[in-house]
Amino acid sequence: MANPSILILPGDGIGPEVMTEVKKVINWFGEKRDLAFDVSEDLVGGAAYDAHGAPLSDETMAKAQEVDAVLLGAVGGPKYDTLDFSVKPERGLLRLRKEMDLYANLRPAQCFDALSDFSSLKQEVVAGLDIMIVRELTSGIYFGEPRGIITENNERVGINTQRYTESEIERVARSAFELAKRRGNKVCSMEKANVMESGILWREVVQRVHDEEYADVELSHMYADAGAMQLCRWPKQFDVIVTDNLFGDLLSDAAAMLTGSLGMLPSASLGAPMANGRPKAMYEPVHGSAPDIAGQGKANPIACILSFSMALRYSFDQGEEATRLEAAIEKVLADGVRTADLLGPEGGSPVSTSEMGDKILAALDASL
Ligand code: NAD
Repeated sequence: MANPSILILPGDGIGPEVMTEVKKVINWFGEKRDLAFDVSEDLVGGAAYDAHGAPLSDETMAKAQEVDAVLLGAVGGPKYDTLDFSVKPERGLLRLRKEMDLYANLRPAQCFDALSDFSSLKQEVVAGLDIMIVRELTSGIYFGEPRGIITENNERVGINTQRYTESEIERVARSAFELAKRRGNKVCSMEKANVMESGILWREVVQRVHDEEYADVELSHMYADAGAMQLCRWPKQFDVIVTDNLFGDLLSDAAAMLTGSLGMLPSASLGAPMANGRPKAMYEPVHGSAPDIAGQGKANPIACILSFSMALRYSFDQGEEATRLEAAIEKVLADGVRTADLLGPEGGSPVSTSEMGDKILAALDASL
């Protein structure tokens, strides 16, 4: 059988730096765990604009549609700030998400023990935290029509429309229930059914999908504003949270920050299953291209490496190997190894991007 395929799109700024460490990890799994991947690499964002005049070429888009998983670094940078909106680096990312129809955005908020004093919340509130926010990514108020700024009664009116079809809610609900089955078996669905019709429909459809297909998963519903409070008060009450595009945007950023640094946060965006049963998938760190530290070997590669770990789990059915990789990262952090972003105000001596990668490889070796 052919090896599973991965398209690597390092992008701009620190994207190529952190992706170099991910490539080392991918090679390690090929050499030491007999888990070989067919890896190809291409351009996205500003790097693609420089080469082709577009932030994602049609050829690259076609490749992304064919592979089992796309791994993306980061796009953007000051050099491209003055470009026309249609060719800005971020458009490459949006094109990938849209054309691959990646409707379920998975944002884990996981607190590594060694970093539990790094959160702005009390240690006992975040230690051992492991929750997953599933945000609907391709519909809702960011896409609904009508939209725009019109003039009415001699003043301007800004309009956006929250709109969800039943099938859009069904498919993201299924993603959340499927995930919960592999985790703590609990889903909390968040909307504003008290004031929004789209929220009433959301709640009804999630409940129906549950009752018909996932009755063995524990389901609760919460208004999104109350959910935000509960996330800060006692986040460990949650396992999987499923919510719409707008609320998910806010809640996933808030939840992510419970755990400390941007350099630690992975994400996955999943779509419908392909012919081979794997979901269309793109994995990427939450952070951007960090122009302030690009090219200096200071970037933390862990967010990008954890994104590959999500790929192992959700695209390649290698949950045990994903756990091995996460345990190696946990071990390195427990040993006190820190990139600059993980040093508190008291300071210390940071390791470089590649040193962090090498330490993780050494911990992987030690796990055998
Ligand atoms: P950013 O995430 O790039 O950086 C924010 C801060 O976090 C910076 O101080 C940076 O040094 C730090 N940081 C980020 N990742 C880090 C890492 N791995 N290790 C250590 N420190 C890290 O966000 P920004 O500064 O708002 O945006 C910079 C550029 O990135 C912009 O062009 C923006 O449009 C783009 N961007 C891209 C994505 C993406 O590709 N998905 C996401 C966000 C921003």
